[in-house]
Amino acid sequence: MSRYFSKKYASLEAYTPGEQPIGQKFVKLNTNELPFPPSEKAWETARRILRPLNLYSDPTARDLHAALAELVGAAPEEVLATNGSDEILNFAFMAFCDDEHPAVFPDITYGFYPVFAELNGVPYTQIPLKEDFSVDLEALCEAEGTVFLANPNAPTGLFLPLTEVEKLVASRPERVVVVDEAYIDFGGESAAKLIHRYPNLLVCQTFSKSRSLAGGRLGFGIASKELMQDLNTIKYSTNPYNVNSMTMALGLGILGDPESTAKNCAEVMRVREYAAAELKKRGFRMPESKANFLFAASDRVDGEELYKKLKDAGILVRHFTTERIRQYNRITVGTREQMDTLLAAIDRILEEETK
Ligand SMILES: *Cc1c(COP(=O)(O)O)cnc(C)c1O
Repeated sequence: MSRYFSKKYASLEAYTPGEQPIGQKFVKLNTNELPFPPSEKAWETARRILRPLNLYSDPTARDLHAALAELVGAAPEEVLATNGSDEILNFAFMAFCDDEHPAVFPDITYGFYPVFAELNGVPYTQIPLKEDFSVDLEALCEAEGTVFLANPNAPTGLFLPLTEVEKLVASRPERVVVVDEAYIDFGGESAAKLIHRYPNLLVCQTFSKSRSLAGGRLGFGIASKELMQDLNTIKYSTNPYNVNSMTMALGLGILGDPESTAKNCAEVMRVREYAAAELKKRGFRMPESKANFLFAASDRVDGEELYKKLKDAGILVRHFTTERIRQYNRITVGTREQMDTLLAAIDRILEEETK
């Protein structure tokens, strides 16, 4: 820290993103990207509609908002495109949290929430997940403050049914509930359709996990017009051109090829069930995943040791040192071939353990 760094950030602990190795050939199962690139059809559309790059990107994101609105069954004024969904989440902390509206989220969830809270000087409460990693809905309903709920949750993969999400949103109309649906396209059911009934609901989604565009940085929020007005005030006070023209064009290209997205998600879900069954055969335990990753632990090998040995074998998975989950690894569901490489490496590691 330099002596010039603002005191308000002195204790800020930045988020640690998953490793993005350059040059080294890893089987990369650590940051939940899709193993398939955007389709040729999406690229063709993008090339055709790309705005000249000497001009600023459209700050109103008119075409993209229209397409997103159609995707989720909302009006264009009820959606907002952002630079990844991390940006809309940060906007939500800025817009809807303060000393009177502390942030509330589970103890085991997306690691960025406490960082956004700290960054924005917002107090926060963490509600422990139950023993089986399911969300403690009653405790969340009772807690006062702006709720951030990842659904499916990360890194557990567990999905909270929509009826339960609705109970949470309805429990206290005076507070905002943010439902982070980064993994919704892998078997969950979106809360987006509830925004017309609940003006206090903000749903966030992303192109990073199910739409092959993690590197393009495109996310979006869906909410009532009132909430959107507030989020737009924050956006126009932060970065009016928050989504660049190239990403906007490719985002529209991807939305214009829904068959490709559906096919990719179906394939990931198929491989997920295969990999889950194979890991269980090897004695791993894991919550039922509705995401594109598995959260797995085994009594036969320590979590961190498995992470390190897989890395030595050229396979990257995500390990967290938080006490409650240190025996687990979060494994992105890749291609069938990648999962077979992982399983073979695990077999070798387990064999060494028992020697
Ligand atoms: C990956 C992820 C995000 C953010 O992804 P972006 O790439 O910023 O869109 C948000 N929430 C959860 C739970 C995630 O796992």
